[in-house]
Amino acid sequence: MEIRKLKLSGFKSFVEPAELRIEPGLTGVVGPNGCGKSNLLEAIRWVMGENSPKSMRSGGMEDVIFAGTASRPPRDFAEVVLHAADDEGEALDVTRRIERGAGSAYRVNGNDVRAKDVALTFADAATGAHSPALVSQGKIAQVIAAKPAERRMMLEEAAGIAGLHVRRRDAESKLRSTEKNLERLEDIMSSLD
Ligand code: ATP
Repeated sequence: MEIRKLKLSGFKSFVEPAELRIEPGLTGVVGPNGCGKSNLLEAIRWVMGENSPKSMRSGGMEDVIFAGTASRPPRDFAEVVLHAADDEGEALDVTRRIERGAGSAYRVNGNDVRAKDVALTFADAATGAHSPALVSQGKIAQVIAAKPAERRMMLEEAAGIAGLHVRRRDAESKLRSTEKNLERLEDIMSSLD
């Protein structure tokens, strides 16, 4: 997958709509302290389905919405759009929007989807909110200090098989409910004997 463009509006310090083209090759973000470099990386993780406010350096998820300054009122929503191309070159546009009091909504190529669908799309493409390809401050030290099980998770993400865990959990839960239905059926059948 190739990320080509990022659009932000009302996300953290990006109060005005901002658009960034990401050209092929290595991309560097430079600027003075506090100008919003980390916020950009967080926007990429957020649109990919990040749900931990802590990893967004926020107390709650709504804290990603522009909180206002002495001269500007706060915003009611934040939106991030990621334009990417999948491995076949097909366009993949993912939008996440959060409104105060209304939570997050996701769209893929203009269609409403669940958070889980977005997470699976990126996991299958060996990327996503927890991808080791997104290296934020302190991440290197974290990799060095990681426990073997955590390192295994990083390798699984890199290998593109992380999505299988989600599907396995879904399948196991379907299996459990089918087993319960079978038990109920057996009870009913034995009461009819
Ligand atoms: P450094 O080089 O120091 O790591 P940086 O360029 O990575 O800095 P960020 O940490 O991305 O900068 O941006 C921090 C700025 O974003 C701060 O000025 C902070 O006030 C602002 N900010 C974060 N969340 C919000 C929000 N919800 N509303 C308004 N501004 C915000």
